[in-house]
Amino acid sequence: RHAFVDSGWATLDPASRKTILLDWVSLIQENAADIALLESVEVGKPINDTLNVDVPGCIAALAYYAEYADKLFSSIAPTGPQDQAILKRTPLGVVGAIVPWNYPLIIAAWKLAPALVLGNAVVLKPAEQSSLGSIRLAELASKARLPDGVVNVVTGLGNEAGEALASHMDVDAVAFTGSTETGRKVMEAAAQSNLKRVSLELGGKSPQVVLADCLDLDRAASAIAWSIFYNAGQTCHAGSRLIVERSIAHRLYRKIETVAKAIKIGHPLDPSTQLGALSSDGQLVRVAEYLDLIGTDGAQIIFGGNQVHPVANGAYVEPTLVALSEPSSRLAHEKIFGPVLVALEVDSPEEALAVANDTHFGLAASIWTGNIREAHRFGERLNAGTVSVNTYDQSSMSTPFGGFKQSGFGRDRSYHALDKYCDTKTIWSHYG
Ligand code: NAD
Repeated sequence: RHAFVDSGWATLDPASRKTILLDWVSLIQENAADIALLESVEVGKPINDTLNVDVPGCIAALAYYAEYADKLFSSIAPTGPQDQAILKRTPLGVVGAIVPWNYPLIIAAWKLAPALVLGNAVVLKPAEQSSLGSIRLAELASKARLPDGVVNVVTGLGNEAGEALASHMDVDAVAFTGSTETGRKVMEAAAQSNLKRVSLELGGKSPQVVLADCLDLDRAASAIAWSIFYNAGQTCHAGSRLIVERSIAHRLYRKIETVAKAIKIGHPLDPSTQLGALSSDGQLVRVAEYLDLIGTDGAQIIFGGNQVHPVANGAYVEPTLVALSEPSSRLAHEKIFGPVLVALEVDSPEEALAVANDTHFGLAASIWTGNIREAHRFGERLNAGTVSVNTYDQSSMSTPFGGFKQSGFGRDRSYHALDKYCDTKTIWSHYG
């Protein structure tokens, strides 16, 4: 709060704010290998991914928003000739950012960057499993001359440090990414304290619908496999629910299996590893509980289903596909957050649409079809924040990311995320 009020960050001229943020970006770039290593060591991600996806993704977010500093205009309302009403973006003050362990650097940057560029001070609470990268980012922020106290990292457990931030009377907004259960608690804490603004990016059980007229089953199989097996399935918008027309189901399963079997599972620090360890033993226990459901409730294994041990005592699960004959199965509705794809077979596009939307979540969805009318219809009617047609997991800093329904509200990325971190002040002047 002192940094917001007294450090001069909020009142700094925009071009200088941009320069400082871009200096920070350069320092992160210079230290990329070091930061990537921290992230791999902490959460078991393949070093190839942390180097080529996570750190560049963090840099891209900071650089993208830094550019807004001197390009974002306020506006003037259309009033009468003797009045002027300026609508001015003003920073909120202190923003709490509570983030999970699955993409620690990228998600932290998605929140830090738009909040900072508007002049806020931020308190970042990384997940207890993955604090080191955040601490390194803050050290580099200090080196880049962000004033002391503008970027803060508070480590600790969720129910201590996270809860304290969510219920703090002097925090103006909390931007949260994590589980639906915790998101609910954050909202409650905000309501019980100072009614701080809350934005929630929660998980999903995102459907990938494949119709019998899909034009390129090989391409679909590859995209579907990588959307769930990348990052060992610990991706909030993983395409974790396959909904496929029965006539092509087994052909598609075999193709997904071919892709899955070629994925190299190994030590996270081996540059050739494509699928690393789960983030923790706790996560392994959680995924194993879902694997135990296979064989019950109409769940039948197509391939995989086992823990594997490329590294002694490592928390690894092999890529797995489970076919479900019972749409109400827990496996069809709950987030597994491991490399486990569940499939439901349907007999028509209409049924596919109904099954796809039969979820509390609404983060992402895709439709694979050669029929432009179906593509358009599914694009309109799938209930998700991002719907992909004949593709999956396309992303850009210029497109918003976030969910419908219990996947949360508010958006990260893009111009739209800026709205979460500022208020609109109207300044009237009368010249009559
Ligand atoms: P989590 O909800 O347990 O933890 C997320 C963060 O909240 C952590 O920093 C944790 O310490 C903190 N926290 C825990 N209890 C808290 C409390 N009572 N008050 C305040 N903060 C608290 O989730 P996780 O296990 O760390 O992360 C995985 C989850 O995140 C998955 O459910 C996944 O689907 C979701 N996720 C969503 C997105 C998205 O953008 N939609 C992105 C990544 C992950």
